[in-house]
Amino acid sequence: MTAKVIDGKAFAANVRAQVAEHVARLKEENGLTPGLAVVLVGEDPASKVYVKNKHASTIEVGMASFEHRLEANTSEAELLALIDQLNADPAVHGILVQLPLPGHLNSELVINRIAPAKDVDGFHISNVGLLGTGQKSMVPCTPLGCLMMLRDHHGKLAGLNAVVVGRSNIVGKPMAQLLLGDSCTVTIAHSRTKDLAEVCKRADILVAAVGRPEMITGDMVKPGATVIDVGINRIERDGKARLVGDVHYDSAAAVAGAITPVPGGVGPMTIACLLANTLTACCRANGLAEPEGLTA
Ligand code: NDP
Repeated sequence: MTAKVIDGKAFAANVRAQVAEHVARLKEENGLTPGLAVVLVGEDPASKVYVKNKHASTIEVGMASFEHRLEANTSEAELLALIDQLNADPAVHGILVQLPLPGHLNSELVINRIAPAKDVDGFHISNVGLLGTGQKSMVPCTPLGCLMMLRDHHGKLAGLNAVVVGRSNIVGKPMAQLLLGDSCTVTIAHSRTKDLAEVCKRADILVAAVGRPEMITGDMVKPGATVIDVGINRIERDGKARLVGDVHYDSAAAVAGAITPVPGGVGPMTIACLLANTLTACCRANGLAEPEGLTA
């Protein structure tokens, strides 16, 4: 079997187009412009690229983008004061603090200062609790993107065996909660899991969020399974820098029914879902109906 390639780039373009359409309607019918504030502290090169891309994508869908670039030595009090200001600003519907923060800043404290309704990354402890108890929340962007692609591919997910490899707070755990919310039978695997290959082989849906290049190989995949590769790993091969996932693509694609490539799979969905979350936050803040198909 050769797997169907789930084209995350095309899927994300479609999500962004839907968001842009909703934004145009909000402007015309309600006089509202959804606004996203992104806070970057310091000079981390990768973070700077992410923030630049987020700004461009936000403008492209017609939203307002508010960028706040702070010096690496910004104090916690200064950062918290900025978050308070953004929390109170009615033009700001979503707030994202780019992680990682410099070492002297307490990420948990900072993230939990964001008003939960504006926490478009879905990392605030209130949103984590709401998701865990099956209530309406802001959902972390990467798992939300994975869920959208899975729903699109499978239709209903109920009853499917899902295995999530990785239990981080930003990907693995929320992914598992979302799959449970869609009535999958969910297993979370991690570094202490015994016989990972056997666990993975039971999965109708296999999500890899590990951070280890090409760790999941074809012999760990159930024939016909859907494989979602969240991993982004920079490696060098044949003297060239390459981006690979947590899944060994060629061997897995030979067995799976469908698979996301790296790059061009989950990655592009993350920013698209950030925009979708900002739109959702704006609708909720103004008592308007949420955009259909763009939330969990
Ligand atoms: P973390 O490092 O926070 O978590 C990795 C998880 O993998 C941990 O739960 C760890 O287990 C588990 N793990 C590590 N080694 C093994 C192993 N040998 N067998 C089984 N499980 C193992 O990573 P993140 O969740 O933040 O990210 C995962 C990957 O996803 C990375 O490649 C990252 O770059 C990528 N990513 C991609 C995004 C996108 O937009 N596409 C967004 C966010 C992340 P334990 O808890 O026991 O240590």
